[in-house]
Amino acid sequence: MRTGDVRLTPTPHDELMEPDLRVGAVLRGALADALALVLPVACAGCDEPDVPLCPTCAGQLRPQPARRALTVTVWSGLPFHGVTARVVRALKEDGRTGLARELAPALRAAVDAAAGDRRDVVVVPVPTSRAAFRRRGYRVVELVARRAGLRTARLLLTARRAADQRGLGRAERRRNVAHTLRARAVEGLRVVVIDDVVTTGATLDEAVRALREGGADVIGAAAIAATPSRMNRL
Ligand SMILES: [Zn+2]
Repeated sequence: MRTGDVRLTPTPHDELMEPDLRVGAVLRGALADALALVLPVACAGCDEPDVPLCPTCAGQLRPQPARRALTVTVWSGLPFHGVTARVVRALKEDGRTGLARELAPALRAAVDAAAGDRRDVVVVPVPTSRAAFRRRGYRVVELVARRAGLRTARLLLTARRAADQRGLGRAERRRNVAHTLRARAVEGLRVVVIDDVVTTGATLDEAVRALREGGADVIGAAAIAATPSRMNRL
């Protein structure tokens, strides 16, 4: 393990972590693996045939940590455009779960930056909506976190459903997601909250609010990628 990496000490909350590969997801994964043997595959970044990700596109996924001040400092591993955006979409929308490994270094870099030199940090994912989980069979940010060797604790829960966020501006999104989350058993924990992609940051702000209301010390947030115009590159 490199120096500066977050070493996540086992917490009393370990028992709250459920195995997130359900039978359906496992079968779907097995099916995808089997199909990959018979169906043509193409680079998720540029459509080059016969490779899931070509070396040029893989090179585009090398972490470029950037930060932005929201309720807390939000770190992202990559700017959300070009190859990164295509790879994230292939993972999120096309079921190409093998790409989680390619995005893992970006999330790892963002979490390491958010945690700084602290060792007692609990990484808490923004919850995946039930509808998204049913559709995909996996939780995107948790899958990438696992590939990054990060232990996560599912301590945020959906309190009520928000309407679809697409097409909403930041203020509207903020109103839309207000009080949609609640935290459990977080009192006194030092937390870095993670999400897959940060756009307006409204969801992360709500996550921070819920965690703080539960008594957590939220020291930062981290994401695989973020809309670049909003981030300050280092
Ligand atoms: Zn490519």
